[in-house]
Amino acid sequence: MANLIQPVRGMNDILPDAERAWDAVESAAAELFGAYGYRRIRIPILEKTELFSRAIGELTDIVEKEMYTFADRNGDSLTMRPEATASVVRACLSHGLLHNRQQKLWCSGPMFRHEKPQKGRYRQFHQINIEALGHAEPEVDAELIVISARLWEELGVDMALEINSLGTPESRTGYKQALVDYFEKRRGDLDGDSLRRLQRNPLRILDSKNPAMQELIAGAPVLEDYLDLPSRDHFERVRTLLTDVGVDFTVNPRLVRGLDYYTRTVFEWVTDRLGAQSAVCSGGRYDGLVSQIGGRATPGVGWALGIERVVELMRDAGFDDAGHDPDIYVVGVGDQPQRECFAAAERLRAAVPGVRLVMGPPGGFRAQLRRADKSGARYALIVGDDELAAGKFSVKPLREDRAQELVPRDEIAGWLERELGRKQ
Ligand code: ATP
Ligand code: MG
Repeated sequence: MANLIQPVRGMNDILPDAERAWDAVESAAAELFGAYGYRRIRIPILEKTELFSRAIGELTDIVEKEMYTFADRNGDSLTMRPEATASVVRACLSHGLLHNRQQKLWCSGPMFRHEKPQKGRYRQFHQINIEALGHAEPEVDAELIVISARLWEELGVDMALEINSLGTPESRTGYKQALVDYFEKRRGDLDGDSLRRLQRNPLRILDSKNPAMQELIAGAPVLEDYLDLPSRDHFERVRTLLTDVGVDFTVNPRLVRGLDYYTRTVFEWVTDRLGAQSAVCSGGRYDGLVSQIGGRATPGVGWALGIERVVELMRDAGFDDAGHDPDIYVVGVGDQPQRECFAAAERLRAAVPGVRLVMGPPGGFRAQLRRADKSGARYALIVGDDELAAGKFSVKPLREDRAQELVPRDEIAGWLERELGRKQ
């Protein structure tokens, strides 16, 4: 036998056993987004590398060391999307979707970052993203946060919300200077990454995950003291709106987020139940992004959740991962009965919408019945030579202590509908 080919490190197969939880997240999100008037957009996996380096920022972990970048056959530098916001904005610009109008959009799919794989941190992971473009008003920041809060409620998971305001790029200039002054004085305690960021992007130092840096960071000046007045008002309004609808939060003045494009509101849903990985969903306002990638200045705000981490939390909260069992397992014993079963199964599928009907491989009666039982099906529908001759089917309840019944061929659909109705 040839050597087994191993999967790529950090890229997971999501097996059918996980489908129930994944589907719960994806369908709850899709439904909620629709209810709030957000429309789905689908964007490509690949973009020009420049899109991400410009949008996310050269001095970020993502652009510095996490992107899957390669030369296309014609020499273009392409990158597998590490996040969705830049692509969504690019798509809006490519199609003129922001000409004198707003857009409320969402999308979902795999993202790629070359990180060190560990539990909750993968090289291919999956996000659900929601973005509102053209809305400057704080109501939309609050709306997006409320949508996420509702999603957690529906999925039965519990998280804490941290929010902060980064102000405008102008108001950040004064703060950046204060940070540079502070860290310059403590140069000797900075790690390599932070040293590099000191001059070009000192805010990024606050985002450092290095434990040795945390004490130094804790003593740094806080951004709030440097916020411009309109940003202060905006932040205040977001907090008021959240309080009005009962969404709890704490203000975390150290929350700066790992991407450069944020302005004003930033937030993160965090948990202590996922070990080292605490962030489950994060986002914020990015009023500078659209012009940064070549469009007319347009405000934006959005968030992204990591499906893997949400699913982990659901399991932790006791989500029942068991898949949907079939309703019926069809057992045909012998060649002719098997043929009859195949056609009968098709008739039943047409007559009873939504029925979960499974046909296993042929075999002896006992072996097939064992498989029927193992499948978790509620009933075995059995056709042997006797049934075939009599024009009837035997139906054997597999999950309750009830006698097997003999049902005429053309009554089987009605019988099944009654039985399935009884289930609810
Ligand atoms: P972290 O602080 O854990 O590195 P991040 O700030 O890089 O997260 P974002 O870029 O804001 O994360 O992405 C939003 C969400 O996507 C995160 O909250 C997380 O749930 C998920 N996520 C990000 N990176 C990964 C990854 N490598 N593997 C799995 N999920 C991820
Ligand atoms: Mg990260």
